[in-house]
Amino acid sequence: MADYYQLLGVDRDADADTLKRAYRRMARQYHPDVNKDPGAEEKFKEIGRAYEVLGDPQTRARYDQFGEAGVSGAAGGMPDMGDMGGFADLFETFFSGFGGSAGGPQRQRGPRQGDDLRFDLNISFRDAVFGGEKEIQIRHLETCGTCNGSGAKKGSGPVTCSTCGGAGQVRRATRTPFGTFTQVAPCPACEGTGQVIADPCPDCSGQGVQQVRKRLRVNIPAGVDSGTRLRVSGEGNAGQRGAPAGDLYVVLYVQSDSKLRRDGINIHSELKISYLQGILGDKVQVDTVDGPVELPIPAGTQPGAVLTLKDHGVPRLGNPVARGNHLFTINVQLPGKLEPRERELLQELASISTSHPKGKGGLFGGLFS
Ligand code: ZN
Repeated sequence: MADYYQLLGVDRDADADTLKRAYRRMARQYHPDVNKDPGAEEKFKEIGRAYEVLGDPQTRARYDQFGEAGVSGAAGGMPDMGDMGGFADLFETFFSGFGGSAGGPQRQRGPRQGDDLRFDLNISFRDAVFGGEKEIQIRHLETCGTCNGSGAKKGSGPVTCSTCGGAGQVRRATRTPFGTFTQVAPCPACEGTGQVIADPCPDCSGQGVQQVRKRLRVNIPAGVDSGTRLRVSGEGNAGQRGAPAGDLYVVLYVQSDSKLRRDGINIHSELKISYLQGILGDKVQVDTVDGPVELPIPAGTQPGAVLTLKDHGVPRLGNPVARGNHLFTINVQLPGKLEPRERELLQELASISTSHPKGKGGLFGGLFS
């Protein structure tokens, strides 16, 4: 689907009034009762969906940040809400300026709590192990400081919605071959609250909230892994009309390391040793997340063996005193070329060794002949 701003023919920084005017103009142009072009109905639905998303500062913020993925099923998670939104907004086109006529039971919705937001953060392998503080820059909605979130211009206040007469609901009669039936829906002009802002605050166009960039410091605990979610309380979008703000969820992605591989709280890496170190044993310096550490290689260490260095793995999330291990997979390096003296000694070794296969010249015999 095309970009919602393009669909409505407005700039990305268009204010609420411009959006509303653009939507009404387009909706009139493509309304299926008026426009019989093939594709007009589809276009009409797309316009409705675009305005449903952009007309609400919360969903608009999500759309700006995540595109369509951020708003799919935004209004309650129903996959076909796009069409429903188109219908709901249609009421606005029909009812605006007609004065309160709809009755029905009083059903008022309270101000809506702000949306939770998600922020994806890449962190290094080391930061995931030991934790640390990270600065991030987010965009979220904050309560408008000019009107303190009321949306009304200084000195004015909300008035009874003229579209629904304060009832918060509208009725719509549809004539069909089977008769006329009536649908009741929340009033689109006041979003079911029964009140509207007659004199909107100039700074937020009456929305009561404003899109703001903000720097935040996030504390990353030791032992996090890819997919760990950190909740930053109250840093989601501000609620409408003083309702509480949502939370910000920071989702972590741990970058891979060229040498170290993580498996839960354990760390794996490869360790190259010479065949002599494997046979005779040794002590070698190995790289760990704690820096170089001495690792004993027992005599007779086989290729592919795994040596464990205890407590140099990843701290357990929430209990950093407990740590995993660092596991080294042994890669035994055989010399490609021998010095004459080395060759002599190895040949002598082969002649007395009990550990290599005997027989017709044996393995070494074949190799050295
Ligand atoms: Zn304001």
